[in-house]
Amino acid sequence: MSYKVVLLPGDGIGPEVTAAAVEVLEATGVDFEWIELEAGAAVLEREGTPLPQRVINQIKEIGLALKGPITTPVGTGFRSVNVTLRQELDLYANVRPARNLPGVPSRYTGVDIVIFRENTEDLYAGVEHRVGKDAAESIKIITREASIRICEAAFSFARREGRRKVTAVHKANIMKLSDGLFLECARQVAAQYPEIEFEDVIVDAACMKLVQAPEQFDVMVMPNLYGDIVSDLCAGLVGGLGVAPGANLGVKAAVFEAVHGSAPQIAGQNLANPLALILSGAMLLGHLGEVEAAQSVRTAVARVLQEGIKTPDLGGRAGTREVGRAIAEALKK
Ligand code: ATP
Ligand code: MG
Repeated sequence: MSYKVVLLPGDGIGPEVTAAAVEVLEATGVDFEWIELEAGAAVLEREGTPLPQRVINQIKEIGLALKGPITTPVGTGFRSVNVTLRQELDLYANVRPARNLPGVPSRYTGVDIVIFRENTEDLYAGVEHRVGKDAAESIKIITREASIRICEAAFSFARREGRRKVTAVHKANIMKLSDGLFLECARQVAAQYPEIEFEDVIVDAACMKLVQAPEQFDVMVMPNLYGDIVSDLCAGLVGGLGVAPGANLGVKAAVFEAVHGSAPQIAGQNLANPLALILSGAMLLGHLGEVEAAQSVRTAVARVLQEGIKTPDLGGRAGTREVGRAIAEALKK
């Protein structure tokens, strides 16, 4: 059986890192059919939009995409491509793993956390207004529907990938109604996953515990604002955004992409680090239920890093293509 995946190489270093990720995914032996489409700067020049409707339609139809970074040129009046995709495809879950990699400098060891951030509501719904001249009000929206589905996404991931614990992060001691509802939903979903340990932690305490002893956490689930902050905190625990993979999960589709941007100043020079997108590809495999292949990609990445085959941003001398090829070779062994 072959999996159809929309491939969006994107802008800047995007085409180079997606080529490396495709080479690695192909080397797992899992059968893919890539539907390559253009989005970003080149299409904008030709067609007047960075994200043609046919791209959105294809992702909706196929349900899966692997995406390089796409720039939304400032001052062109276009909505960000990433925001448009999130809204059009109702990508409600932002998933960000933070895991130590050998040869990637970090203050911590033993970190292996996956954060599920709710991505449609909370204080980011944009419902705010001025109250007179000297005050402003921003409204925090938490719904049962959105809370249940993000918690469901976190627990079903934990079950599929054999993780041991899910931690819900909140501030329900102060925001008793809104965060209280989120916590109530988390408990309700947790009851359906008796084999997975469940705990809840107040967000400020969670931050302290994360910098003291991050290895105590496994899967974490939280509303939008806390998720935004805590997922960057966790990227910092393991060596920064350069090797940070990500996924955006929705009802209609799932889009896998690196956290970093298009880095135009190093584009086209075989200098970009492809690991973030390769690890996003591992997440795609896990999402497809190809859990063993996903694990073998992570193992191959670790092995190649241990051999010192890495790009300049990690202190190595290898190019984008060499890193991709080395990981693909390690998989075939
Ligand atoms: P964009 O406008 O698309 O966000 P950017 O250049 O700001 O592009 P960021 O991801 O914010 O991209 O990256 C900031 C800097 O980090 C880059 O300019 C680059 O120097 C470095 N960087 C980011 N991603 C990578 C990568 N994959 N490999 C090597 N260096 C990277
Ligand atoms: Mg940037």
